Amino acid sequence: MLVTLKELLVDAKEKKYAVGSFNTPNLETASAVIAAAEELNVPVIIAHAEVHNDLISLNVMGPIMVQLAKQAKVPACVHLDHGSSFDACVKAMHLGFTSVMYDASAKSFEENVNETKEIVKIAHSLGVSVEAELGHIFTSSIGGGEGRGPLGAEDFNSLDDAYTNPDLAKEFVERTQVDALAIAFGTTHGVYLTKPELDLNRITEVKNKIDIPFVMHGGSGLSEAEFKEAINNGITKINYFTYMTMAGGKSVVDFVQDMKEKNETVFFHDIALVAEAGIKENVKEALRVFSNR
Ligand SMILES: [Zn+2]
Repeated sequence: MLVTLKELLVDAKEKKYAVGSFNTPNLETASAVIAAAEELNVPVIIAHAEVHNDLISLNVMGPIMVQLAKQAKVPACVHLDHGSSFDACVKAMHLGFTSVMYDASAKSFEENVNETKEIVKIAHSLGVSVEAELGHIFTSSIGGGEGRGPLGAEDFNSLDDAYTNPDLAKEFVERTQVDALAIAFGTTHGVYLTKPELDLNRITEVKNKIDIPFVMHGGSGLSEAEFKEAINNGITKINYFTYMTMAGGKSVVDFVQDMKEKNETVFFHDIALVAEAGIKENVKEALRVFSNR
């Protein structure tokens, strides 16, 4: 059942759980994510990251995602991740996406406000939800493609400069009317090269100023306790990709090694299904933690 981001996050916020958002740059990943959510009977978000246009274009993958969400047995939102332009956001809305992220977080505060406001105006008139980002979410040099980067704590004078400012967050949300806000508190897109040091209290500080659904980017690679605390403090959407796609890769490596040992022929269509199964198990694990199942 295709639903908007707003519908999903309002329920999540009320009941204190988080909805997993997974980038799905091919059919196998999208099918795996939907199947995992159906098995656990939890809502889910499938997302197309604009940078994944290199893997598959929005024009080709978008309609497949919308179709899979429509026929899903659980509430499913189709979301554009890190939309960098007006064009990309409008194109996604046109394809039937029920949510877009407009990311102008690298621009000045005023530019971010003004550009996001324009997107919100169009999106809301079409019944589409909008996520925006304020602050600087780090990006690893390995597998962090959807963010801008590499970008680390060392690129800022202090962590306070990098993390989301609670007063600005309040002003940003009031002026733009976004449905969800991605906030920065130390998470990293891609593979964590060092143990993450998170300022989980920052979420509470932002929430005390403006109480809307918050989004955690760079969600894979954290401990269960860190996820739980983040959710408890107000995170309602968790973007999770890197460790899921690594799990799919590992399944394929194991499968190919096994087939080689047995001296059997490897077919590509089998590899795709093996990857799908590995991804599904990893997503189920993540969804179990996010939804407190
Ligand atoms: Zn992100």
